[in-house]
Amino acid sequence: MLQNFTIDNLIFFASIYFGLVFLITSLAIVLWTARDIRARTRDNFIVVLSAILVLGLNLPGLLIYLFLRPRETLSEAYERSLEEEALLQEIEGKLACPGCGQRVKEHWQACPQCHTRLKKPCIACGEMLQLSWNMCPICATIQSSGVEPTRSAHASRRIAKNTPPKNQWESLTSSRAIPTDSQVTFIDES
Ligand SMILES: [Zn+2]
Ligand SMILES: [Zn+2]
Repeated sequence: MLQNFTIDNLIFFASIYFGLVFLITSLAIVLWTARDIRARTRDNFIVVLSAILVLGLNLPGLLIYLFLRPRETLSEAYERSLEEEALLQEIEGKLACPGCGQRVKEHWQACPQCHTRLKKPCIACGEMLQLSWNMCPICATIQSSGVEPTRSAHASRRIAKNTPPKNQWESLTSSRAIPTDSQVTFIDES
């Protein structure tokens, strides 16, 4: 009778003990999950959902959470975005040959390593232009000699048809360049 009582007592206390351990562990897991997910997302819905998942399913829930949680924390994502931006700026700052990846200079016409054509000089002022440009941004001259003659001719025709900047520019510069001299001398003389 006495032995029975102590065994019953032991089972009773053991169940209380393990129940408490289970409860505290569950609570700790839920708290850890809540803290972890809050560092990974600003979405309150996902925070609550993760807490409910772990609260309801306990350890299997934690396992599912660990599988599905966002891979990086917000600060990690922020750091990565900063690094990416710095890398991008570095790439943009250093020009590379599209053919071989060798670093090239801004004013180079061709890559010395693989002979890839990089730029072309303006037929009028010699400014270095992108190969796809059909008009010089400096002197507004239409580039008639391109790498692909049919395409550049077509493009220049299209440019001439749609917008007449060249003609405008020419008339503007010529009207300013030629008569100004005569006008200035004429005014000076009178
Ligand atoms: Zn190259
Ligand atoms: Zn030019």
